[in-house]
Amino acid sequence: MSCRNGASLKERIENKKKIVVKVGTSSITYDNGKLNLRFIDQLARQICDLMNRGIQVILVTSGAIGVGVPVLGFREKPAYLPYKQAAAAVGQGFLMNVYERIFHEYGRHVGQVLLTKGDSLNPKRYMYARGMMMALLELGVLPIINENDAVAADEIKIGDNDTLSAIVASIADADLLVILSDVDGLYDKNPSKYDDAKLLSEIPSFSRSLFQMAEGPGTARGTGGMYTKLLAAEICVHSGIDMIIAKSTVPSVLYRLMDGEAIGTFFRSEDVHPQMKKRKMIIGADLKGKLFVDEGCRDAVLHKGSSILPVGVTGADGDFQDGDIISVFCGDEELARGITHFSRKDVEKICGMHTSEMNAALGYEAPYDTVIHRDNLFVLH
Ligand code: ADP
Repeated sequence: MSCRNGASLKERIENKKKIVVKVGTSSITYDNGKLNLRFIDQLARQICDLMNRGIQVILVTSGAIGVGVPVLGFREKPAYLPYKQAAAAVGQGFLMNVYERIFHEYGRHVGQVLLTKGDSLNPKRYMYARGMMMALLELGVLPIINENDAVAADEIKIGDNDTLSAIVASIADADLLVILSDVDGLYDKNPSKYDDAKLLSEIPSFSRSLFQMAEGPGTARGTGGMYTKLLAAEICVHSGIDMIIAKSTVPSVLYRLMDGEAIGTFFRSEDVHPQMKKRKMIIGADLKGKLFVDEGCRDAVLHKGSSILPVGVTGADGDFQDGDIISVFCGDEELARGITHFSRKDVEKICGMHTSEMNAALGYEAPYDTVIHRDNLFVLH
């Protein structure tokens, strides 16, 4: 079996523990807009087998509008926005129903997640979206993600599922994004126009000049084309996430990719320290307040990578709400910054307390046992 760049790349792929798989409309539907059940069945079988192997998988799927269009009796995608949204609303339910039934046959449940741009930009929504996705993965459920096309107006839209899949990979801390498309990978020019276009099997370091090779979608049903796939690659490589573009119809494509076989185009990511990933989100954001912690908590945060538990918190300052970004101090020393799960008012009620005492002090059931979870904590030292 061939593999790119010898054993190191094979090892790189074989070590992947959390992957995002994105499928486009052109892969999951036929030209007439009806679902390609044979493809979906093969996809489900491979994804469930990877999950059984211990790999966490997230599926990003397009297709809601495309599937809803024939269900509503339209001959083509309507231009009138409310009709398009209606097609998305009907198509999304239809699509999820099919996914649920097919994945269930292989022993897995699926969870529908509909995202919009705000879920990646707003720290509070980012934190909740991330927490929910992590919970689904931990519970062995396959998150199936789409943009919320039924409500999303242009200004709150990410706009294409290639970019969405890269954002999801970064929110979920995935280590690989696989974009399955109707094309073998990135060519040096558009292969549907030029017979002599050459497939590029590896992009060792991403450069913006690659965009010159990319054009729009290959089919009337596709939306992004190669351009948005390169936008996704750019997000991934700078976030330390490897990415592959491969043709969805290659037999056993996911098995073979995860065995390290050289299929499609591999975008090698930059080495990004996990702390640096959080840095992007947390540094530069408006700080809404301060959290003061004791020496024991300082030690746990700086040397053990721990979350901040109420028991180590001594006080708070500023007018912050849950989901805001705050700084963490021990005396005069700023230790870290992170997204708080509790408002200042609530932090003051629970500081110094053990987890078991929190509910009584708050007067409601605490949704989290940490004030700042280590996933959302950027340590400054
Ligand atoms: P999907 O629906 O699977 O996301 P798209 O149709 O949106 O797929 O995008 C893939 C298409 O992009 C290809 O079929 C091809 O026609 C077009 N394309 C444009 N430029 C390139 C390029 N340099 N390399 C490969 N494909 C390209």
